Amino acid sequence: MTAVLRATDLWKSFDGRAVLRGVSVELDVHDVVAVIGASGSGKSTLLRCLNLLEPIDDGQIFLAGDDISDPRADANRVRSRFGIVFQGYNLFPHLTVLDNITLAARFVHRMPRREAEERGRELLARVGLADKADAHPDRLSGGQQQRVAIARAIATDPEVLLLDEITSALDPMLVGEVLELVRTLAEDGATILMATHEMAFARDVANRVLFLDQGAIVEEGPPAQLFGAAREPRTREFLARFTAG
Ligand code: ADP
Ligand code: MG
Repeated sequence: MTAVLRATDLWKSFDGRAVLRGVSVELDVHDVVAVIGASGSGKSTLLRCLNLLEPIDDGQIFLAGDDISDPRADANRVRSRFGIVFQGYNLFPHLTVLDNITLAARFVHRMPRREAEERGRELLARVGLADKADAHPDRLSGGQQQRVAIARAIATDPEVLLLDEITSALDPMLVGEVLELVRTLAEDGATILMATHEMAFARDVANRVLFLDQGAIVEEGPPAQLFGAAREPRTREFLARFTAG
């Protein structure tokens, strides 16, 4: 079976400093993979390289068998095959919630407005925000805004959903509703790669966890093994520091 996403030996430097040092990642369909690691370990860079928001220096990335790291690949076309949600909400403040969600479908995927809006309303219902279609983002709570960002990310049926610490900027009270939504997407079969500090959530929802340290994957495995019986001292140290706060 062809992996949905397969990245091999990715290298990336900023200003001569290597931030990714030979990272390889593979996701099969329905995989939910959590990337954990200290701030600065390269999680965001990895996600951004995978959907070509950052050019890699070396390595290869295949999406459903297509070599998207080929310099001739159409980066916009490739990006439209991913959904991505960032830490900040990144919604367009001057557009309604419904317009935020339908923008890509209408203008990138050329879906007729009626169809895009019908689908947009279905998506809003799915994320529990059917009544917010005509609201502007600043009228929504942070948790609601992130749920809109998720609806927008899945509006175009992406092959892989990339989630970059999507609850980190939220009031703790609002984290649960966003994680519950991600859990539902995972249960519905989405293929997800998520950078997260929510260890309990990763343990619960991911089927594989990668521990990234200084741009390299030190250890990876099923959550029970990684969180319960990590082999590498660096992993144990990170997790210990983490649970100590
Ligand atoms: P994480 O998401 O794990 O916190 P990042 O991928 O954001 O880590 O960052 C990894 C390292 O790369 C950090 O040292 C960061 O300062 C650096 N970095 C990230 N993006 C850039 C950039 N655009 N220019 C220069 N350095 C960057
Ligand atoms: Mg980051």
